[in-house]
Amino acid sequence: MEQSGIAPYAVQGVPQGITQEMTKSKTDIAPAGPNKREWHGTHHPWRFRSQAFRWKGEQISGINFLPLATEMRAWMLRRGQLSLMPPSAPPWNDGFTNPYSANGITLALIMSSVIIAFHEYATTATPGHDEIAAEIERLRLYNEVLLYSARFCEVAIKQLLYCTEIRESWYKRKALGELLELPCPECKRKSGQEPHRISLVGTLACPYHLCREFEHCAMDHMDLVNKLRNSQAAHSGIQALNVRGVDASKEQLLQDSDEALSGFVHMLSHFEDLEQQMLRDLVEKGEEINRLKRNGLSAKDCNFNLEPGKPFVFTPCAQGRDVE
Ligand SMILES: [Zn+2]
Ligand SMILES: [Zn+2]
Ligand SMILES: [Zn+2]
Repeated sequence: MEQSGIAPYAVQGVPQGITQEMTKSKTDIAPAGPNKREWHGTHHPWRFRSQAFRWKGEQISGINFLPLATEMRAWMLRRGQLSLMPPSAPPWNDGFTNPYSANGITLALIMSSVIIAFHEYATTATPGHDEIAAEIERLRLYNEVLLYSARFCEVAIKQLLYCTEIRESWYKRKALGELLELPCPECKRKSGQEPHRISLVGTLACPYHLCREFEHCAMDHMDLVNKLRNSQAAHSGIQALNVRGVDASKEQLLQDSDEALSGFVHMLSHFEDLEQQMLRDLVEKGEEINRLKRNGLSAKDCNFNLEPGKPFVFTPCAQGRDVE
């Protein structure tokens, strides 16, 4: 089965020498050391829903998410290109129905142009820019780096959550911080007491045994990006203008953005593991389901129990239980 019919997109490659760190692999870069935080959000069992797949009539034709983090990381490491959204198709004829996939593709492309823009501004001469203009440009570009880093994380997480039975109302309007840890929406509704905390990101990673690396690394990076975005690039807070000369402003832009993006690209390596495991898992399950259908299983018996990370076992008598 084809995972995704993604069209190559000839976006300009990431500039040479954008950062030394970025071109290193996950094993040889020490995480940039974001402040370690204790994560208390619990992880919960979940199942895939039928929207995890794309459908052609009764048959599964593909997976209903795109490897956003995988591609973004490949592009940042100059190993691959970013994709455009495949041509649109109706949901019954192989179309994507995951709204976060299309949003994610757009955000990834914008982020790539932000990365190119900050790097170009920081490393090329701009005659005619005085030190005030350079300082304003530094803050504008650094803000965009933070903003799109956080938005990309949000959409990449929501894209995967959409494939699960976790209710969309739990994450649809949530920003990154709450995706990392939020008060349990169930308990919040039931009692007036302080609800326990759950982690939707941890919950996604859990069945693939990726909790540890998420909680000890990837989530810390996302948390840092989120805090920087919230304090400097999303609301009323922003760094002060520090007018001191064009070159100094450019140098700081390069340093700050490199630092943020080195952590980001490392975080993506964990995200890539999750995306790839989920894709493999769904491809296996999808092939198995198609085989059952080809062998005559009727639609009414297709209430599958799609447990992530576990081999798909179909036992007709155990099926038919209610799916939330
Ligand atoms: Zn609860
Ligand atoms: Zn876990
Ligand atoms: Zn790590």
